[in-house]
Amino acid sequence: MLKGKIAIVTGGTRGIGYAIVEKYLENHATVILCGSRQETADKAVAQLKAKNPDWPVEGIAPDLGDYAAVKAAFDGVLERYGRIDILVNNAGMSSAEPLSAYTPELFRKVMALNVDAAFYCIRAVYDAMAAQGSGCILNTSSMVSRHGQPSGVAYPTSKFAVNGMTLSLARELGPKGIRVNAVAPGVTNTDMMKAVPDSVIQPLIQSIPLRRIGEPEDLANAFLFLASDAASYITGEIIHVGGQARS
Ligand code: NAD
Repeated sequence: MLKGKIAIVTGGTRGIGYAIVEKYLENHATVILCGSRQETADKAVAQLKAKNPDWPVEGIAPDLGDYAAVKAAFDGVLERYGRIDILVNNAGMSSAEPLSAYTPELFRKVMALNVDAAFYCIRAVYDAMAAQGSGCILNTSSMVSRHGQPSGVAYPTSKFAVNGMTLSLARELGPKGIRVNAVAPGVTNTDMMKAVPDSVIQPLIQSIPLRRIGEPEDLANAFLFLASDAASYITGEIIHVGGQARS
């Protein structure tokens, strides 16, 4: 479904991002995965190459908090591959502190990765996609962007911002041939969920109509569809993948 496409995936070393990278490779894209450290990026690449040594994948680790570093790294991708077709902004962090314990520093940290870095990555690929006259930008939102959550204020705030960025840029960049969509995962089985005790997970599962939490591959399938030509007339959508209907 992605033959000949060049894709950058941030947060591609584990969890949902890793599943997206694997799914894109299985569908014949060339993938540049971004990790927070070169060591973890290299480890993820080695793991993928162990599965299929022919997969065209490389790992980079620009500091996503530094626009100049992101721009330099993505310009390097352009030099090596000649184009960038797909950008997946998947790197993200959460924190569950109640407001009474929430510091301005923590608020800024969450916003910096979940919102500022997504903007930096989009800004860094924009000129190339505009010059190509085509491109696909996919952001990772969250189910908490529907209703908020009862603690950890920066996380839902950041994901509402991701939705806003998605809807606005879909309008602005559509005429340039660039589609902008988001996938909003429900509770998904990754490291981010490991801290949540089973006593919380089990009642949660009972509240999900499909009676299970998501697996990274459930999300990767949505990211595959939206990146593919099968979604060529879809932009400005936030697709919820969480085993339940919109309420
Ligand atoms: P994860 O913790 O398993 O992976 C997070 C990824 O982000 C990792 O690859 C990590 O290297 C990268 N990352 C973290 N901090 C970084 C930094 N400072 N610089 C660069 N990269 C950094 O999490 P996940 O569950 O796979 O989450 C992926 C995305 O899905 C996130 O945007 C998250 O908000 C979203 N999401 C997850 C769930 C869930 O239940 N797991 C639910 C809704 C939304």
